[in-house]
Amino acid sequence: MSTSIRRHQTGDPQNLEERFATRAAGMQASEIRSLFAVASRPEIVSLAGGMPNLSALPMQMMASVVHDLIATNGAEALQYGSGQGHPKLREQICDVMALEGIRANPDDIIVTTGSQQALDLISRIFIDPGDVVLVEAPSYVGALGTFRQYEAQVVHVTMDDQGLVPEALRQAIISLRAARQKIKFLYLIPNYQNPTGVLLPADRRSEILEICQGERIFVVEDNPYGLLGFDKPSPNAMRAQDSENVIYLGSFSKTIAAGLRVGWALVPPSLKEKLVIASESSILCPSNFTQLTISSYLADQPWRDQIASFCELYKVRRDAMLESLQEHFPASATWTKPGGGFYVWVNLPPEIDTKLMVPKAIVAKVAYVPGTAFYADGFGTWAMRLSYCHPTPERIREGVKALSHVVKQEIERRGSGYSIGNK
Ligand code: PMP
Repeated sequence: MSTSIRRHQTGDPQNLEERFATRAAGMQASEIRSLFAVASRPEIVSLAGGMPNLSALPMQMMASVVHDLIATNGAEALQYGSGQGHPKLREQICDVMALEGIRANPDDIIVTTGSQQALDLISRIFIDPGDVVLVEAPSYVGALGTFRQYEAQVVHVTMDDQGLVPEALRQAIISLRAARQKIKFLYLIPNYQNPTGVLLPADRRSEILEICQGERIFVVEDNPYGLLGFDKPSPNAMRAQDSENVIYLGSFSKTIAAGLRVGWALVPPSLKEKLVIASESSILCPSNFTQLTISSYLADQPWRDQIASFCELYKVRRDAMLESLQEHFPASATWTKPGGGFYVWVNLPPEIDTKLMVPKAIVAKVAYVPGTAFYADGFGTWAMRLSYCHPTPERIREGVKALSHVVKQEIERRGSGYSIGNK
């Protein structure tokens, strides 16, 4: 290799920054990503990641699904497929969505590489730099990252323990319109939201849909956790009420296996063509192999029972977390009580900076995600997301107890004047 070629390959980072496209400036590692390396050390109880728990998935059964697929239909499974997704799987996805009241045409579904890819495609076709995307406050870190990459202006809309507040949405739209801002869509997670675990009730769903219809703002309904309700089924999906204005995102990551990377978008017919073209330009087609694995699994295995087993597994962990929070956390802390999904959101006294507290928690062998990760604007310094999906109930109790000591010490150290007595 000549020296001149070698010199090109070892460009200094500053020079590289200049050579990147402007949009690359928005590509920053999320707070969760940098935490993962530490949180995955075996001695740490990780209440940080949102990794689904596969211990309830019968691996021998999955192995035979994959074996039979390759043995009987390998030539199709290992070949390129349709850019829109496999027709049989798209029909089966309609059966899955029917559980949440959705009546859909398989032709309006685009299969994606996880719903994360659907978020990327939607952002690509809608967002010009500076356009407004409305999101819950707080919202899913992976969506915020995607919107940032497309240089959207993310505007958070107030939530309470019943989810997005319709009146706050109305007010946000009025002031953005007065400032002549272009609002492209509202992104929300109505079921067991990431990061708060909150469920949006049926009446708010209708009210939000009405507001967005009236204002001609698309609603992007992201629903990876809808079938993971522990106590009762979640209300019908927003898409069940409105097929014209709602872009619905689904995923098999939490109900079957995240590693297969199969999700989908159900879109109003007018949007389908653009989305398929956008998807083809990035991946040509979703993996036939993983789509057909899911398809065989749905056709031949008791998938509804399997989802019920996942719910049971997560419910026990949710209970362990809520009980130990109640037992150990100080009276000045409050937290959500999720009816499903993976997450609890904890609010601490405002003086506490949960980001600065992370290293102390790691020393105490527990990890969580600081609240600021879920805001585009630095808000949420006193909050944190705790996930109960992965560790065993015993480890969850251990982790929450260890974290409670760190929190209490921090409250004392800050002299916040709040009571640190147990609740
Ligand atoms: N949306 C939300 C709210 C999520 O929590 C996640 C994953 N944690 C995703 C989308 C992406 O899921 P996937 O790409 O695995 O379907």
